[in-house]
Amino acid sequence: MITEKTKANEKESKKSKQHKYIFVVGGVMSGVGKGIATSSIGKILQSKGFKVNPIKVDPYLNVDAGNMNPTEHGEVFVLDSGLETDQDMGNYERFLEMDLISDDYMTSGMIYKHVIEKERNLGYRGKCVEAIPHITDEIARRWKKSAEHHNSDISLIEIGGTIGDYQNILFIEAARTLKIRHPQDVMFIMVSYLPVPGTLGEMKTRPTQNAVRQLNSYGVQPDVIIARGTHSLDAKRKEKIAFSCAILPENVISAPDIKSVYDVPLNFEKDRISSIILKTLHMRTKAHNGELEDWKKFVEKRTKAKHKLNIAVVGKYFDTGDFVLSDAYVSVIEAIKFSSYWKDANTELTWINSKDYEANPKLINDLKKFDGIIVPGGFGESGVEGVIMAIKYARENKIPYLGLCYGMQLAVVEYCRNVIGWKDATTSEITNKSSHIVIDIMPDQKKNLDNGNYGATMRLGAYVALLKEGSIVAKSYGKKEVSERHRHRYEVNLEYIKEMEKAGLVFSGTSPDGKLMEYAELPKSVHPFFVGTQAHPEFKARPMHPHPLFTSFIEVCLKNK
Ligand code: GLN
Repeated sequence: MITEKTKANEKESKKSKQHKYIFVVGGVMSGVGKGIATSSIGKILQSKGFKVNPIKVDPYLNVDAGNMNPTEHGEVFVLDSGLETDQDMGNYERFLEMDLISDDYMTSGMIYKHVIEKERNLGYRGKCVEAIPHITDEIARRWKKSAEHHNSDISLIEIGGTIGDYQNILFIEAARTLKIRHPQDVMFIMVSYLPVPGTLGEMKTRPTQNAVRQLNSYGVQPDVIIARGTHSLDAKRKEKIAFSCAILPENVISAPDIKSVYDVPLNFEKDRISSIILKTLHMRTKAHNGELEDWKKFVEKRTKAKHKLNIAVVGKYFDTGDFVLSDAYVSVIEAIKFSSYWKDANTELTWINSKDYEANPKLINDLKKFDGIIVPGGFGESGVEGVIMAIKYARENKIPYLGLCYGMQLAVVEYCRNVIGWKDATTSEITNKSSHIVIDIMPDQKKNLDNGNYGATMRLGAYVALLKEGSIVAKSYGKKEVSERHRHRYEVNLEYIKEMEKAGLVFSGTSPDGKLMEYAELPKSVHPFFVGTQAHPEFKARPMHPHPLFTSFIEVCLKNK
């Protein structure tokens, strides 16, 4: 029976469900793990029974991450909606086991574009439109929209860049405004870096002190400092940071480099970050959700794995100067890790630049030492011939092969060239001078390219595919209808499907109308595992829910070893 009293109680509890905001900012330098810190804090708060919604703010003027070069900026992570975002969104999705929406990601370009378009449409009714308040209001509106969509208790908002950058000031100002309006409900966490200069051999706190002063000059005081570094923070330096930055010593969290990013939530909890956050935000623990017990079990899988696999990833984007930048494929790496751990294995990935094979074809034989070969997504003609050589090697030598997007398209090209005998088979992404364009641009995509219309115009986001009964992919997924995320302009050319199938290639999954080839494979009787997909299944792999296609691949690699 609903009495007046219970109604009043409900009203009261709704009122007291005050939404909380945690802002994560970076001090000293970029690339020290704000994304992992944000994801880890989210994971910890989930384990305390809270619903969280992560948001990534990228201060650059690009409207999305789609046109950015992955060697410079890392992977472009695609959401179900098709929005092309920063790789941190992938970290959030993986740690928090959530599907994120477009409102969970924003760039300065996106905000400005919206405000300017609104102004052009007289949306500000003749007012002078200014950075403050119109840009900051638009930022805050999006933060609110994201929180409402997820119906969360706490928003975790990571502000990209470093304190002192020119570009993120308006986001910090929007956060400051929120704090002024809701002093009890907003807190700031600074992820900072404490260098140990080689010549000194001592951890230095000064850059962090300066970063905090800079943040103070914006009217913001951090509540917590996460001290990243090669070493743990000692008591003396903890005191020093606390004293000079005016925060409690226990609110300085030591965050030394560790083997796996999935250890970070457990490490943060050693310094009791959850009680600090809840105290700062005037909250009490909700239901305990196993205190990260499941997470601990998952993390232990890595250290306890009995088997070892060696898998080659062949493609480009790997070399930037003297460094290998595997960041461009972080989701593939994590997908492989999850499936390996759950199959009691640790997998070492070797990044092979396909151009090496073009320069020295004999090197291809080195592939025999690998238990599996992956060709991930990619664009353009560079390195393609080397990739095709690697696919041929995998097919002929029966090494398990997984082709992702470009990796499927080039597997089709390889099959047409070397099995069917169309020596000039190719994709129109490389050349139009061929009598066998077996991978071709989609007609509406051609218009985009002809008009120089590159931004957000690929086939993007989640699409459904129907799988052929009894195929490797259908057995892997354990169902006939699947949805995966996409990011491509080219497709298998329907003109050649019949001949390819006659020659033994199986198109084991298509779009519901049958016009787009989503999966290609060779029968098990011919090859233990030769599978390609037009999609990017790696975007949906999660620690607790490894991706079935990657898991099948790993299983066969183990069996074949
Ligand atoms: N370059 C190919 C295309 O645009 C494949 C893209 C990808 O691998 N993501 O269709």
